[in-house]
Amino acid sequence: MIRIDFLLPRRACIAVHIGTVTVGGDAPIVVQSMTNTDTADAEATTVQVVELAEAGSELVRITVNTEEAAAAVPVIRERLAMRGVTVPLIGDFHFNGHRLLSKYPACAEALDKYRINPGNVGRGKKKDEQFATIVDIACRHAKPVRIGVNWGSLDQELAVRLMDDNARLPEPKPATEVMHEAMIRSALESAQRAEEIGLRHDQIILSVKMSGVQDLIAVYRKLAARCDYPLHLGLTEAGMGSKGIVASTAALAVLLQEGIGDTIRISLTPEPGGDRTQEVIVAQEILQAMGLRSFTPQVTACPGCGRTSSDYFQHLAQDIQTYLRQQMPLWRERHPGVEELKVAVMGCVVNGPGESKQANVGISLPGTGEIPVAPVYVDGEKTVTLKGETIAAEFQKIVDDYVIRRYPVNG
Ligand code: SF4
Repeated sequence: MIRIDFLLPRRACIAVHIGTVTVGGDAPIVVQSMTNTDTADAEATTVQVVELAEAGSELVRITVNTEEAAAAVPVIRERLAMRGVTVPLIGDFHFNGHRLLSKYPACAEALDKYRINPGNVGRGKKKDEQFATIVDIACRHAKPVRIGVNWGSLDQELAVRLMDDNARLPEPKPATEVMHEAMIRSALESAQRAEEIGLRHDQIILSVKMSGVQDLIAVYRKLAARCDYPLHLGLTEAGMGSKGIVASTAALAVLLQEGIGDTIRISLTPEPGGDRTQEVIVAQEILQAMGLRSFTPQVTACPGCGRTSSDYFQHLAQDIQTYLRQQMPLWRERHPGVEELKVAVMGCVVNGPGESKQANVGISLPGTGEIPVAPVYVDGEKTVTLKGETIAAEFQKIVDDYVIRRYPVNG
């Protein structure tokens, strides 16, 4: 059972439909991701979209930056369909979106949503015209739009105007506050303009991404109070490795706890040659750790200490975690509810039995000086004691049997 007792109620907002996925309203918080392949390379992009979708990404954004990329979009959609992948695709446009969407109607049709960055649509008079062109195409193809403001490409004309207005006040506000307001105004004024052009209220999602944790929290709190559009959350340019994960989690956890956020993306910089799906797993783990959604069985493992007799339990914890994640594409179909499963792998008798009893299936491995046996607990009861070289295989079998018994085969 998911614990939601300390969560604040979800902010009320309209529902926006993106292909087969709903964002906002009563829909669960949606996980999304973005490819880093050259979209013009239709095969490489198709493969990565499949990987992201199989990892659990419910929306996938792709860059559409050149004519070749725009031409490749319908090909990617077709190749995804041939592989049985229906994940909605979002086109990310900067500077030339008006031209690409006009010249490549098949691209406009194949995408399920367009992302417009108001700071990168154009300059001066052209900005309004080019923005109107994209929105008009979205209206004609019945596609929703994300107005995605980004701190690194904030509309400079708007920022300067607000700074000048602020300077004329008897008591000017701090510059940070003015810049936050510029982010919010850029999103809200662009949304209003899009509606004036003809986009429906329920075809708009907003985001105001920043790279500082405190900035992001402050700006989203204010935006959330001033509109009922669904909000896409993400710490932009979060960075690499643990820094990116921790900063994203710190920012998003505060907002999600307050009921703010309808779809999330974790903007991690992958290690060279690293796996792009990591951003999907981190997004899922944030939502699951907070009790907002369940995606995959969770493994509780102790950190180990001087009582740990070897790294055996670390290997067992890692192996079982990998195994559970690998099984999920099959289990999700065949064993509904299995994503709520909790497995514990503990390193010694100090906390091992207690933690194992709290899990659905738990094992307490022997620590230094303990008898070399590993009691297994199922739903809080000790069922068997494993020993010898086959502990890992036997424990995996116990987990498999539990899944089959507890989450009966569907159909
Ligand atoms: S359960 Fe045992 S091995 Fe694990 S951290 Fe606690 S005392 Fe150390």
